[in-house]
Amino acid sequence: MKKILNYIGGALVEPQNGIFFENIDPSRGIAYSLIPDSNQNDVDAAVNAAKMAFPSWSSTPAAARSAIMVRIADLIAKNAEALARAESIDNGKPLSLARVMDIPRAEDNIRFFGTAILHWSSEAHIMENSGINYTNRKPIGVVGCISPWNLPLYLFTWKIAPAIAAGNCVVAKPSEITPMSAFLFSELCIEAGLPAGVLNIVHGYGPSAGEAIITHAGVKAISFTGGTATGARIAAKAAPEFKKLSLELGGKNPNVIFADCDFEKMLRQTLRSSFTNQGQICLCGSRIIIERPIYEKFKEAFVEKVQNMKIGDPLDDETKTGAVVSEAHMNKILSYIELAKQEGGKILCGGERCYPGGELNNGYYIKPTVIEGLGPECRTNREEIFGPVVTIQVFDTEEEALQLANATEYGLAASLWTSDLNRAHRFASKIESGIVWVNTWLMRDLRTPFGGVKNSGVGREGGWEALRFFTEAQNVCIDFTP
Ligand code: NAD
Repeated sequence: MKKILNYIGGALVEPQNGIFFENIDPSRGIAYSLIPDSNQNDVDAAVNAAKMAFPSWSSTPAAARSAIMVRIADLIAKNAEALARAESIDNGKPLSLARVMDIPRAEDNIRFFGTAILHWSSEAHIMENSGINYTNRKPIGVVGCISPWNLPLYLFTWKIAPAIAAGNCVVAKPSEITPMSAFLFSELCIEAGLPAGVLNIVHGYGPSAGEAIITHAGVKAISFTGGTATGARIAAKAAPEFKKLSLELGGKNPNVIFADCDFEKMLRQTLRSSFTNQGQICLCGSRIIIERPIYEKFKEAFVEKVQNMKIGDPLDDETKTGAVVSEAHMNKILSYIELAKQEGGKILCGGERCYPGGELNNGYYIKPTVIEGLGPECRTNREEIFGPVVTIQVFDTEEEALQLANATEYGLAASLWTSDLNRAHRFASKIESGIVWVNTWLMRDLRTPFGGVKNSGVGREGGWEALRFFTEAQNVCIDFTP
């Protein structure tokens, strides 16, 4: 079986203990490659390599750093099909989705920050007739980047790109559930001529390899995307050493639909926001909140469309709905469907595992599920399920809609459907979430601040926010009085 290798000090290497574990293809439930079971020793080697590379990389002119990053982006484009296939096999997502979303976005991330750094400038504050301050934004040093399995290369590069563009050296860990595209990416970094040690990729489990990155005294800042419970643990571990932290965590996003919306557009987009990537996008809307006059119409049209969604082999060009990421995750989602029933929810469609036939019968598939009849107090409507499961709720007034939308500990994203401009602004400002989409979903501009409030995280990624996170601001004050 193919062995995934760590990328440390510019070389592809086995873990020091020589131990690997199996990587499962969730579409067929079979092991197809091996993942390094790295530990503290591998992380120590990676941090040392990063430390050694830092003086040279941080003083490399931005234009030279940019040129290397643009070469990496070009290589992602050149190898897009192979990367998309790898992502689909590793994650269970449709190849058709990886082709249009995951891999183009990974390329965009590297190109975006690799060129943004050419336009990066810092502020000056002039004190009338007395002096001037300017802000010197310096790279931090060695930083850690840890990413989840749902958008593997997309989120991995979203962190690494601003970190290295700003002149830091990185020790990164992709999810142990989907490590393949990060491994292929390390090969592209070597081909592009990224100097040894600028990026180091350590594969393995969270509690061993991941935690060794978090607690390493040489790692000065951590950018993490993953579950809220993991984020809390990381924050607790990092706090005593005052490490800079960016935490992008879970969500339980509302889609608020008013009767005056463009119904057909809303229906199309709500289908996307509910079930893209089998509902395994942190931005997916999992609580659909509908104004009473169109509730029945929406329910009928939506359920009909959901029932027609065909689950298939992720590698088949026609497939729009693939497998969920792992057996453990499938069982977690199924247990939430059972909970919804116990809480009194009515399953309008789906609600069970799916066996698409042949060798796919050993894969992890769940029928897209719509649940009705649960209020905001139910765990089904409060906890993140992170699968192809949505609930629908009805409201009568704008105030009630707002209460329902905000009735969760999370606050990542929200979608709002209305043709009333005043209401859109009014409502958007009151929703407790870091991102609000009005009459759309997942429309992304990489310059905008990205992140959540409440239990969805701390800090913002995207654009200048990310470059600010990966730099230390130093104020230099000069007195020019005689
Ligand atoms: P997870 O928290 O289990 O794992 C995420 C990463 O953290 C993995 O690489 C894992 O190995 C590592 N990890 C686990 N324990 C660790 C520890 N103790 N120390 C250091 N690292 C550790 O999350 P997941 O199941 O991979 O991803 C799904 C979650 O990610 C969902 O909650 C989803 O909402 C969230 N997510 C959030 C965003 C966002 O932008 N806010 C984006 C995508 C996914």
